[in-house]
Amino acid sequence: MGATFTHGTSNLCVLTDSIPSPLPATPEGLARAASLLRAGECVALPTETVYGLAADALNPEAAAKVFAIKGRPLIDPLIVHVPDLDALARVAEPDPQLTALALLWPGPLTVVLRRRKSVPDVITAGQDTVAVRIPAHPVLREVLRLSGLALAAPSANPFGYVSPTRASHVRDSLGARCPWIVDGGPCEHGVESTIVDLSVPGVARLLRPGPVPLERLKTLLGEVSVVGRTANPSAAQAAPGMLERHYSPGTRLRLFAAGGDPGPVGSGEAVMFLGRRAGFTGPAVFHLSEDGSVEEAARNLFDLLRRLDARGLALIHAELAPPAGVGAAFNDRLTRAAAR
Ligand code: AMP
Ligand code: MG
Repeated sequence: MGATFTHGTSNLCVLTDSIPSPLPATPEGLARAASLLRAGECVALPTETVYGLAADALNPEAAAKVFAIKGRPLIDPLIVHVPDLDALARVAEPDPQLTALALLWPGPLTVVLRRRKSVPDVITAGQDTVAVRIPAHPVLREVLRLSGLALAAPSANPFGYVSPTRASHVRDSLGARCPWIVDGGPCEHGVESTIVDLSVPGVARLLRPGPVPLERLKTLLGEVSVVGRTANPSAAQAAPGMLERHYSPGTRLRLFAAGGDPGPVGSGEAVMFLGRRAGFTGPAVFHLSEDGSVEEAARNLFDLLRRLDARGLALIHAELAPPAGVGAAFNDRLTRAAAR
């Protein structure tokens, strides 16, 4: 019998008893989050992609705390979240191609532009570009409004580990270092934002596939080139999210083709299908959606990876998605998680 999914969050975790429960997404909770951020603290917040570890993007000390909490190398620049295009214009220079892409905002799209001097070097890893996003999640939007800040918010996980898509994931892996977490329920998309680099005039490059598919970008921009992932850390400096091994669970992963069979499954191993699969049952068989929906599978991917990772399995056999739409992002994250 396969595992089924509930979309409720559980704040219970035996290992994190001493850590305060996440703040509820109430007006009081969000006001508290905004005032902590204004005071230069870090707060984990839900976004429509994954949970982000937020800090005042224009305060270098606050931004430095994000790197320290995550154990993130300073060469990996942070995405700046702003409420609207006016706020965006205060951190980045406008670009003619942005007009077309701005139709996708608010939403799970990050754009790399030339930066303004207001943005500290720690945010951009010293580059003259800045990555910006106008997010859609009502909790993050309300905290942006209440705080009046631009917020850096990389995924709220230890660097290199699987991104969090529930408040409980943040609490489990980062709660001891960042007790302030707002619980906004499970994230809608479950994979990180699509990143498009517009910093070279007239050129659009997809740096990271995400919930906004390449097909959609092409209808808005015409030509979009795709930057391949790399195993070379120095080549990855401009887009360190492009490092091949990233988003990785501790357990080894073996991938198999969409619609294909996993092959022999040994004891101490598990199989992760996109949807229910006739002929495969038992405690080692899991599915990411009821009907094979890639959107639902993406939403549940990191949660199931984390739960399977906690079982100390020898191997997880994971089914790839058909590559259209968000399937490209799903396959990208699985492929990186499987990289050794
Ligand atoms: P995340 O890890 O989700 O916070 O996404 C951060 C990723 O955005 C980085 O790893 C880079 O791939 C990309 N990024 C952020 N800032 C820049 C920048 N200034 N130039 C190029 N890519 C950037
Ligand atoms: Mg991340």
